Amino acid sequence: MNRPFAAALAAALLCSPAPLWAQDAAAPAPVAAPVPTPPVGWQPHELTTPPEEIAAAALAAAPVWDGHNDVPIQLRGRFHNLINSFDFTDTTHAGNDGKGTGDHVFGPSMHTDLARLARGHVGAQFWSVYVSAEQTEPEAVRATLEQIDVLKRLVARYPNRMKLVQSADDVQATMAEGRVASLMGMEGGHSIGSSLGTLRQMYALGVRYMTLTHTRNNPWADSATDKAEHDGLTDFGKDVVREMNRIGMLVDLSHVSEATMLDALDVAKVPVIFSHSGARSVNPHVRNVPDNVLDRLKANGGIVMAITLPAFVSEARRQWGARLAGEEARLKTLSNEDKAQVDAGLEEWKRSNPEPVVTIGEVADHIEHIARRIGVEHIGIGGDYDGMPKGPEGMEDVSGYPELFIELARRGFSQGELELIASRNMMRVLRAAEDYAHAHSADPPIEYPVPD
Ligand SMILES: [Zn+2]
Repeated sequence: MNRPFAAALAAALLCSPAPLWAQDAAAPAPVAAPVPTPPVGWQPHELTTPPEEIAAAALAAAPVWDGHNDVPIQLRGRFHNLINSFDFTDTTHAGNDGKGTGDHVFGPSMHTDLARLARGHVGAQFWSVYVSAEQTEPEAVRATLEQIDVLKRLVARYPNRMKLVQSADDVQATMAEGRVASLMGMEGGHSIGSSLGTLRQMYALGVRYMTLTHTRNNPWADSATDKAEHDGLTDFGKDVVREMNRIGMLVDLSHVSEATMLDALDVAKVPVIFSHSGARSVNPHVRNVPDNVLDRLKANGGIVMAITLPAFVSEARRQWGARLAGEEARLKTLSNEDKAQVDAGLEEWKRSNPEPVVTIGEVADHIEHIARRIGVEHIGIGGDYDGMPKGPEGMEDVSGYPELFIELARRGFSQGELELIASRNMMRVLRAAEDYAHAHSADPPIEYPVPD
């Protein structure tokens, strides 16, 4: 146990209640010790080794376990899930099916392939079986099943390079073999069609986390980017969280409203994750995690997996995106929605309003903020590659992770701390979810009647 971790653990234990994930730890003797204020967070270590060496050693010992990658929706958007001749060893010219209108298709190149996963030291990946929340729930359930199918078919085509896994032990063994341990995360509660039976069957198919919402509210949870409707989770939404805990599916709070985050943290019995999020103190996007929620996350034992999507990372990029959207609306009004005129006008606008460059340092700023606020035990990596037009400069695709770890080492993160961020924290969280589910395997499932 390293010193910051021990200090954080001791502080958390002294400020009762003990964090859920530490309740099995030996209780300290009840001595009158001063409670440290402000809360014990991360402090930089003195740099005595070149940062490149620290980062390389960390990633060799603990490869990246990325929380969110959108390759499956690329397969749907580009190829209508026709992948028998798709080449995942190199997707730099993956094309777009000649149509170019598919969901999340932003250009000829994808961000992810087997070569670049290797260069990025990605040892484990939560592949998102995301489908659009704009469709009806029954449509979403079917599309989610199709995305689970296409991901499984992709992994099966590269048995020497990838393996579908469903447990922390499997992840560890598969990473040790040098194959990409491949797990599935479901992005949005619309994917279960308001049905706990469907939720349980998604788990049975191998899904190991569910983001409670995507960009829209669903019938039981509010999204960060929609109008508040339920003030967080409904009673059914709270039962969704309870049932996820009971069966061992991780609760993901990326995309959800602050009220939903707080409701989920009230209900959750095991650590939660933010599979791809930033810190709101660094960039005030509603999609990012505010400090009061970070403080709750510390007690919960969960993690924020740091996102690289430029508009969530950089306030300048966020503002630019808002001005671009305003300009587009203006051009549409002036041209009576003439697409050619709007496109030409936007190109001209971009020439005089260039997109701000977003840097690796800005991604590291989010990680450093979370570390200083609640400790390095609460951070992971969740790039969101292939779920955005392009990554930050120097981290344009999944091969860029070593550069981020070099930047973090330069800032004084030790090798052990970088290993926690890369994958050991995520491993701890999945084990905690599995342990809770195992201990509660005799609890009855939560039942709701199916509709007439
Ligand atoms: Zn997302």
